[in-house]
Amino acid sequence: MQLQIYNTLTREKELFVPRIPGKVSMYLCGPTVYNRIHLGNARTFVLGDTIRRILVYLGYDVTYVQNFTDVDDKIIDRAAELGISVDELVEQEIKNYFTDAEALNIRAADKHPRVTAHIGDIVAFIEDLIAGDFAYVSDGDVFYSVESFPAYGQLSGQKLEDLALGSRVEVGEAKRHPADFVLWKAAKPGEPNWPSPWGAGRPGWHIECSAMVRSELGGHIDIHAGGSDLQFPHHENELAQSEALCPGEPLARYWVHGAFLIVNDEKMSKSQGNFFILRDILRHHDGSVVRFFLQSAHYRKPLAFDATSLDSANAALHRLKNTYAALEHVLAARDTPPASGEVLDLAKYEERFKETLADDFNAAGAWGVLFELAREANTAITRGGMGNTAEVLDTLHKLADVLGVELRVEKSIAAEVEELIARREEARRARDFWTADKIRQDLLQLGIVLEDTPQGVRWKLKW
Ligand code: AMP
Ligand code: ZN
Repeated sequence: MQLQIYNTLTREKELFVPRIPGKVSMYLCGPTVYNRIHLGNARTFVLGDTIRRILVYLGYDVTYVQNFTDVDDKIIDRAAELGISVDELVEQEIKNYFTDAEALNIRAADKHPRVTAHIGDIVAFIEDLIAGDFAYVSDGDVFYSVESFPAYGQLSGQKLEDLALGSRVEVGEAKRHPADFVLWKAAKPGEPNWPSPWGAGRPGWHIECSAMVRSELGGHIDIHAGGSDLQFPHHENELAQSEALCPGEPLARYWVHGAFLIVNDEKMSKSQGNFFILRDILRHHDGSVVRFFLQSAHYRKPLAFDATSLDSANAALHRLKNTYAALEHVLAARDTPPASGEVLDLAKYEERFKETLADDFNAAGAWGVLFELAREANTAITRGGMGNTAEVLDTLHKLADVLGVELRVEKSIAAEVEELIARREEARRARDFWTADKIRQDLLQLGIVLEDTPQGVRWKLKW
């Protein structure tokens, strides 16, 4: 089994060879902390967490860094709007990020550096760029000179001439080339600022990540990830900054970009107004269902969100959870083994699961393998049992955890179903057929079919 990763830089699936055998350093551009994250942002953060879990499962020792952008126009504007300080807003939104991440079972990264804690590193980075003639000072601002870096445009596949033509920025006095971008912004009244050799100011967006990769991970990493909107200009500029200082040594060996969550064929985004705040969604849907939904398409394919998406995801995931609960029930109900019945070939399933994930982190495909396993287990128990129920449970649990989803439900589904069946019986005795039928329908929604037999009501899982 060899891991293959699609590298945006080469536009090819490549064999993964980390800089240091067995170890992976990975950086994902984190949120700008001015508001609760929406479902689209969540897709990208779930992607980072899923890749990290897969790498660990494949045996790598992973160092994962995800930053917080905690100084930005949007933060300054929102703090003013709310009448609170930038610091207060940032603290609140970082806390909110972790609450949301936890609900989706996104583990904290090894490090979550904040831009404001790295101003010294950023200033030092800009000084290095100026010293190497890759940047110039203009009236308290500092710009990166794209013409000084001949490979500029390689990540996004664009030529400098085209960028100049397509650029909406007029060549003014401040910039030498329209695609030059700001590294340091001179302070404006009332905005957060820090001293620098070029006067008080604050960093531009792109330099943050180059500087934090350098100070947290040593400047050269294995995987750099983010949403596909970051490919240009953000990652193009990061690459230009970092590689200008270290010619011949890539900033990242593999660039991974996640496709968008879309609504009516458009990217979900705050500016489009077509966004759903994750916290609102979590009022109605379990975090595991949301995570499962976000993994339901390959990460390089757009994922469409509509009114039925989460209900469908819920129904599908429930089938898996129900099977899991039914297996637990079988195991608990069995008095002393000998276990009887067919033995499922778990090694075969795990092998396929692993191979699927090693093919460019195909989490959606890996879920397919788990569904096949659960289906086979379910058929086996309907036929009278399995020889390796405990091992099937372990495998299902372990592999779903690689994808970050807990299959164990707090309250046993069996107990819940029995309770509902008792209520239905009660309703039927009271000749309340509407309620009785409603309960049957609700159970059906959860993938449970009732059968009225002479011995009483039986239930089984619908597959
Ligand atoms: P922001 O807080 O706007 O910087 O975005 C944080 C992350 O979410 C970035 O990596 C974006 O690429 C990503 N992102 C934003 N919108 C979407 C979307 N609709 N689908 C997937 N990822 C997104
Ligand atoms: Zn970044």
